[in-house]
Amino acid sequence: MVRILDGIYQLKVPLPGDLRDTNVYLISGSEGWLMVDTGWESPEALSALRSELAQGGIELEDISSIIITHFHPDHIGLAKAIQEESGAKVFLHREEARYVQGKFVLSEILERTSKWVKVLELSKVDGFTPSEFSFPSLPEIDVVLQGGEEIVWGDLHLRVIWTPGHSPGHICLYESQKGLLFSGDHILPTITPNVSLNPLSGDNPLKDYIDSLKLLRELKMELALPAHEHTFTRVEKRIDELFCHHEERKREIMRVLFRGEKTPCEVASRISWLWDGKTISYGDLTSMDKMMALGETMAYLEFLRNEERVEMITTDNSYYYKVTS
Ligand SMILES: [Zn+2]
Ligand SMILES: [Zn+2]
Repeated sequence: MVRILDGIYQLKVPLPGDLRDTNVYLISGSEGWLMVDTGWESPEALSALRSELAQGGIELEDISSIIITHFHPDHIGLAKAIQEESGAKVFLHREEARYVQGKFVLSEILERTSKWVKVLELSKVDGFTPSEFSFPSLPEIDVVLQGGEEIVWGDLHLRVIWTPGHSPGHICLYESQKGLLFSGDHILPTITPNVSLNPLSGDNPLKDYIDSLKLLRELKMELALPAHEHTFTRVEKRIDELFCHHEERKREIMRVLFRGEKTPCEVASRISWLWDGKTISYGDLTSMDKMMALGETMAYLEFLRNEERVEMITTDNSYYYKVTS
């Protein structure tokens, strides 16, 4: 448990895979502790969280509120276990609360899933099983956020900013007096957050992501507290780097399409992929990473299609993208 500022602490909760851990933040207030994100659902992660808390003389039952930046399993995973022990209120954005609360039309998701399975040729990805779209144990959602709310905790006035893109109901928390941004997975110091077209994303998640970044670029920020890696300053510079990255990626995809029409899978296998700091080819990715790479490629293709720079052609059972004539 590391002190970031007076009354604000960062805890590392271990996570399987390359990201290594989720940063959980604790904020002290007169009503107890507010937790931002929770970590991956596993016995190891829960006991790591308990022992991090114990360093500060805190127990799970001292947590009175939990704000989830987005519903990915490495963020919402332990919320149910913590809520069961502490009775904490859980806050989540409405775009994700509707899935968590089961107020979605399953057939709608299945229909979208089967469409993307075809468009992305997922059936050709070894090891693909639709059952991988599953949720961890889910907490009761007590407060459904819209964006724009102000949550006062201790001496912090946390403004909820809806930042869709990485996930449809992603939120950041902004404290204007101190210039703090709890950035979730929206902005990380070195890793480029995954922005994918998938059954639960909007139709143009990359546009959502870029628009959300533009919104934050206007704010005065001193320190970002992200959900992975480490806290960082010069947040505006990092946002500009992310803009540049996506522009370069779009140019790379346009270069591929100038050579002729391609399926999303063909595009993905002709661009470079950075994995764990190394550039590797699409063919060398694991099945799970291939699906993420395809989703990311589709996010670019659909962004470009909405800008009318490319078009999608459907033939019998195939989907191709080509440069707009
Ligand atoms: Zn995430
Ligand atoms: Zn994450």
